[in-house]
Amino acid sequence: MDRYAVIGHPIKHSQSPFIHGRFAEQTGEQLDYQRLLAPLDGFADTLSHFAREGGKGCNITVPFKTQALELAAELTERARLAGAVNTLHLQADGRWLGDNTDGAGLVLDLRRLGFPLAGARILLLGAGGAARGALAPLLAEQPAQLVVANRTRARAEELAQHFGRLGNISSAPLDTPGTGFDIIINSTSASLQGEALSLDAAVCHPGTRVYDMMYGREETVFLAWARELGLEHRHDGLGMLVGQAAESFYLWRGVRPDMMPVLTSLRAKLEAAT
Ligand code: NDP
Repeated sequence: MDRYAVIGHPIKHSQSPFIHGRFAEQTGEQLDYQRLLAPLDGFADTLSHFAREGGKGCNITVPFKTQALELAAELTERARLAGAVNTLHLQADGRWLGDNTDGAGLVLDLRRLGFPLAGARILLLGAGGAARGALAPLLAEQPAQLVVANRTRARAEELAQHFGRLGNISSAPLDTPGTGFDIIINSTSASLQGEALSLDAAVCHPGTRVYDMMYGREETVFLAWARELGLEHRHDGLGMLVGQAAESFYLWRGVRPDMMPVLTSLRAKLEAAT
């Protein structure tokens, strides 16, 4: 049976085996998908051992996405632009192809949720790895404007320059990013630390749709802020997680799984967890 895995450190929390297991059941694909804990200084060894044992592809998570980029013999354009690899696929010649499906997963989820991306004014909060991966797929949807706002302004400016040829993108300080955005996407890890961003209500209008890449059992601080402002369309990043997995599955197997039933069962699983 073809073997796949998610490699990270730590890895115990990863939902990827659950997601890919459901995709395999749904599509009738025969595959085995496991978690692999790589030592912090042993990612390359773990990967080559996995290939020798018959591994065909893997997902890469924190903190190895940059090392995966360096080990890939070939990169997709979106991985090159993102500067990180979250998916490796073993080619017939025994070399790894590196891809980045995080941004595509985000766009799949935004489309599923009915976010009108074309012509929209989008505010992206944060300029870390998740923001970098999201920018090319977001700009491909042709928003009217995309503003990247970050606590460390220089990182937002660097992203605006790096992606400038792909669309109308600019940078702004986090506390004054502009007003009246149609869509606000939070890619900061502030929610992870339970911290609120000091955003002015003027960044929104009554129809603004918000999306937090973070997910979990509880409402995130950012989504609670949006609820208190009375915004109706508020979503966490669980669908992005399932979406990036669906893109990886497609790369490996050539079959597109249906995200929705897997997202529903993953949500139920998280809510049932104590
Ligand atoms: P990084 O560490 O690369 O970047 C973190 C970003 O958050 C930086 O822009 C940082 O700003 C900003 N930040 C951190 N703390 C604060 C704070 N207190 N106030 C304001 N800004 C802050 O992380 P990632 O980009 O990899 O991940 C970001 C988030 O996205 C995480 O919550 C992660 O769980 C989520 N994520 C979700 C995925 C999904 O599938 N749903 C996939 C990938 C990520 P600065 O530059 O100033 O340090």
